Amino acid sequence: MTAKLLSGKEIAETIKAELKAEIEGLRFQLGLAVVRVGEDAASEVYVGSKVRTSDELGMQSAHHHLPQETTQSELLSLVKTLNADDSVDGILVQLPLPGHIDEKAVIEAIDPAKDVDGFHPINVGRLSLGQNTLAPCTPAGVIEILKRSGIEIEGRHAVIVGRSNIVGKPMAKLLLRENATVTICHSRTADLSAITGQADILVAAIGRPGFVRAEHIGDNATVIDVGINSVSDISTVRAIFDGEELEKRLATIEKRGATLVGDVNYTDAMAKAAFYTPVPGGVGLLTVAMLMKNTVEAAKTRRNRQ
Ligand code: NAP
Repeated sequence: MTAKLLSGKEIAETIKAELKAEIEGLRFQLGLAVVRVGEDAASEVYVGSKVRTSDELGMQSAHHHLPQETTQSELLSLVKTLNADDSVDGILVQLPLPGHIDEKAVIEAIDPAKDVDGFHPINVGRLSLGQNTLAPCTPAGVIEILKRSGIEIEGRHAVIVGRSNIVGKPMAKLLLRENATVTICHSRTADLSAITGQADILVAAIGRPGFVRAEHIGDNATVIDVGINSVSDISTVRAIFDGEELEKRLATIEKRGATLVGDVNYTDAMAKAAFYTPVPGGVGLLTVAMLMKNTVEAAKTRRNRQ
């Protein structure tokens, strides 16, 4: 069998087009505030893409770039100002923050009604209660991929490898809300392949290139690869890809020094799964689209309450 690839690109473009139309019909100007502290290179790329996308969709985005030496109280004071600013519908503080700043304190300072990352304990709690709320963007994007690809969730066994607060745990709650039977695995799980092999939907959010291999994948499974790993080591790449895809990856390393690889072994997923989300081109592209969707939802909910 050759797995069918699920294109995150197409789905993300569709969601953005729907949002653009919805935003054009709103009576108010939407505002997204993105806060970045310091010079983390990956954060700069992520923030750039969030600001660009919000501009494309017709939102008013403000990028607050603070120096590395910003104190916690200075950052908290900016969050407080943004909370009070009625023109700001969504606040996103890009993580990771410099080591001297307590991320938890900053997340908790954001008004839950403007918490478009869905990380505030109030939103985490609401999600645990099965309520509609601002949910973390990456797992929310996975749900969109499944639904819009016509993959049934209700009654299916979903197995998630990874239990982080930003992916694994909210993924479990969202799948449960869709009536899947959910199992969460992690680094202490005994006999991992016996569990993952039962999955109708297998979500890999581990942070290890090509970790999920043939023995972890059941026949006809839908494999969702959340991992994003930058790999420059040729032998690692050879173990994950073959044929044309391997040639493409080697050429990328030659040109750019590294290639982006998921947490699933590509060759094995293509051979065993029914559906697979490639990296790049899969889940990663949904994250920004879902951030935009959360901003629209946050605005509608907050402004309707006023
Ligand atoms: P994380 O916080 O490092 O969590 C990794 C999880 O994997 C942990 O729960 C860990 O278990 C588990 N794990 C590690 N080794 C394992 C093993 N040998 N067997 C079973 N489980 C194992 O990572 P994360 O933030 O969730 O991110 C996961 C991946 O998704 C990364 O590649 C990241 O880059 C990617 N990501 C992508 C997006 C996107 O937009 N597409 C967004 C966020 C993250 P323990 O809890 O027991 O340690």
